[in-house]
Amino acid sequence: MLGEVRRIFEALWTGYGPQGWWPAEHPWEMMVGAVLTQGTAWRNAVRCLENLSAGRLLDHPAQLLDVSVHCLEEMLKPGGFWRVKARRLRALSRFIVDRWEGDLDRMFAVPTALLRRKLLSVDGIGPETADCILLYAARRPVAVADAYTRRILQRCGVTGELGYEATRRLLEAAFPGEVEKLQELHALMVRVGKECCRKRRPRCGACLLESLCEAAAGTGPSPGGVRGPRRNCLRGG
Ligand code: SF4
Repeated sequence: MLGEVRRIFEALWTGYGPQGWWPAEHPWEMMVGAVLTQGTAWRNAVRCLENLSAGRLLDHPAQLLDVSVHCLEEMLKPGGFWRVKARRLRALSRFIVDRWEGDLDRMFAVPTALLRRKLLSVDGIGPETADCILLYAARRPVAVADAYTRRILQRCGVTGELGYEATRRLLEAAFPGEVEKLQELHALMVRVGKECCRKRRPRCGACLLESLCEAAAGTGPSPGGVRGPRRNCLRGG
């Protein structure tokens, strides 16, 4: 399985090249972006980040606690779910200010597993958001096993219906300690998921993984529209 994950990465890396995520200037901005992109496209999260930056609210976690809730919600409207996201951002800010006086360097000195558990205790921070924060803002070798990644791995025949945690552990085992590769893997999987491996009607003919994919070969899960000759490249066929 680990070799199969690496072959998928190599195929995407060779075809697409580096994706260069995450385009934020500061770790705190990355953390805010990880919350803002929940349930919406990144471009909408960027519009919210621009509003926050224009209001000079991205320099320090405490700034989001000083602004009124109404004002914060107004800035978050382009991303949708603005009330929920305002509450979640303030919860994250409060968490960092209360425990580390808003000092991200002190927060990022906490060991990865412990920091992950602490992040998961914050209102609105689920596994995917926590892992994005750890991978991009804290630069820890943690994988993001989002829905795109799990679908692609399953269709390629690497995994069955694995849950989030099992998939995360598999990816981390494939690239132990390799922060940059785990970042690129996440970005590449999102790109394939959006451009080709859609939930309905995947575009296998345009996909860099077609020659590695059981679903495309007709030997694995058969998503709508996937047809192809029977072969099993990932397993050496
Ligand atoms: S070949 Fe098709 S099913 Fe396989 S990963 Fe690509 S788009 Fe998805």
